[in-house]
Amino acid sequence: MSAESNSVNHPLPAAQRLRIVLVGTQHPGNLGSAARAMKTMGLSRLVLVAPEKAPNAESLALAAGADDVLEAAVTCETLAQAVADCRLVLGCTARSRRVQLEELLPRDAAARCVTEAAGGAEVALVFGRERTGLTNDELQLCHASVHIPANPEYSSLNLASAVQVLSYELRLALLEAQAAQGDAADVAERRDPPASHAEMESFFAQLADTLDAIDFHKGRAPESAMRKLRRLYLRAGLDAREVRILRGILADARRMAMLAGPKR
Ligand code: SAH
Repeated sequence: MSAESNSVNHPLPAAQRLRIVLVGTQHPGNLGSAARAMKTMGLSRLVLVAPEKAPNAESLALAAGADDVLEAAVTCETLAQAVADCRLVLGCTARSRRVQLEELLPRDAAARCVTEAAGGAEVALVFGRERTGLTNDELQLCHASVHIPANPEYSSLNLASAVQVLSYELRLALLEAQAAQGDAADVAERRDPPASHAEMESFFAQLADTLDAIDFHKGRAPESAMRKLRRLYLRAGLDAREVRILRGILADARRMAMLAGPKR
């Protein structure tokens, strides 16, 4: 059986490729709490690997409105089945294990998950049993482990709390990726071709002429002001349309100066 995406609509498309996998969960209440933690952060793909008890009334009570996530949860017999189609699998552990695995902080793990998901890959974050966590064999199926840097003397979070921390980090990373994408689109949309050297020089000539016509310099040498204005406009990286707008303003300023009478 494969863990397919369910039909909940996501405002953040990469979220559709992120799944939370709970292995061997012992308390059905935790299934509901985990579903709630996920839904608050815009995640909806829950996979259960051989839970000790199927979701029940206690799960639903603790899901508190995230029943859709719980009801859409896919159940698998083994972790290998749950992540068979994933290109990135990260295992969350409350303590260091003897298994030699790279250990990531939640923030770095989330960034990696979102990069992969945004690139079209299926990604899984795996959580272990309440009493004993993930077995070493299960961790061997993971590309890296994730550890929430909790109090070293008391480092084991409640399962659903750990899901909440990681889901929150995933959400931040998703929002950041979305904002970066929006910025890139804005820039792409904004651009007329950049103004050419010749267009900038014609603009500067008109600017010098207009400043003169409106008596901006008032007897001071114009060179220093022109040097500063050149620097300012060159730094702005204007496109051709922006230069046309500025030249329109200069033409109007000049016309108004003519109407106001000859320069004294
Ligand atoms: N007694 C278990 C703890 C299990 S807590 C053990 O020592 O491994 C249940 C699950 O929550 C863990 O398997 C892990 O996936 C997650 N979890 C709890 N605390 C965590 C932490 N500090 N960092 C990462 N995951 C944690």
